[in-house]
Amino acid sequence: LHLKRLEIYGFKSFADRTEIVFERGITGVVGPNGSGKSNVADAVRWVLGEQSARTLRGTRMEDIIFNGTEKRKKLSMAEVTLVFDNVDGSLDMPYSELSVTRRIYRSGESEYLINGNSRRLKDVVALFQDTGIGKEGYSIIGQGRIGDILTPKSEERRVIFEEAAGVVKYKTRKEEAERKLGQTDQNLIRIEDILEELS
Ligand code: ATP
Repeated sequence: LHLKRLEIYGFKSFADRTEIVFERGITGVVGPNGSGKSNVADAVRWVLGEQSARTLRGTRMEDIIFNGTEKRKKLSMAEVTLVFDNVDGSLDMPYSELSVTRRIYRSGESEYLINGNSRRLKDVVALFQDTGIGKEGYSIIGQGRIGDILTPKSEERRVIFEEAAGVVKYKTRKEEAERKLGQTDQNLIRIEDILEELS
């Protein structure tokens, strides 16, 4: 699934309508400290349904709306759009290109749009289910997470790869089954003891 474009308006430091085009291959975002590089990743997280202002490094959701500078008035709305190439049908929608938009107004009103049509957060989450994309997915790795991945402890690193590979749920189920087997073994031993006492 190829993310073709990111359109940002009024989100954090992006006061002007800004379009970031992602060609095939690797795209690097470079700039001085505080110039807004992390804000780009925050914008992607936000469209994908991030509900926690703290994760977006703010205190209230309205904090993400451009707050003005000495020279520029603050804005009343923030809008971010992700445009995906869907020629291969990775996303279950009959469109070769798919856009997902999130808007928020200072009044607190907020909305999601898929290809320009108003949708619920639920629909956006459903659209990306099982694609590896999502606010919790490993498609976005925050600065803090990099330390976890580079951790010298191989067991900790393994947990991250297991989560990414989707095997954690099977491991949990296996552990649960083993616990139940252990309990059953104990019960059997007790029954055998009782039988022996009775005979
Ligand atoms: P570093 O390299 O230090 O991590 P960075 O390039 O990742 O920096 P960001 O953290 O993305 O920078 O951007 C921080 C900038 O965004 C700050 O200058 C901050 O003032 C600005 N900013 C954040 N929220 C808003 C907002 N609501 N309105 C205007 N500017 C904002």
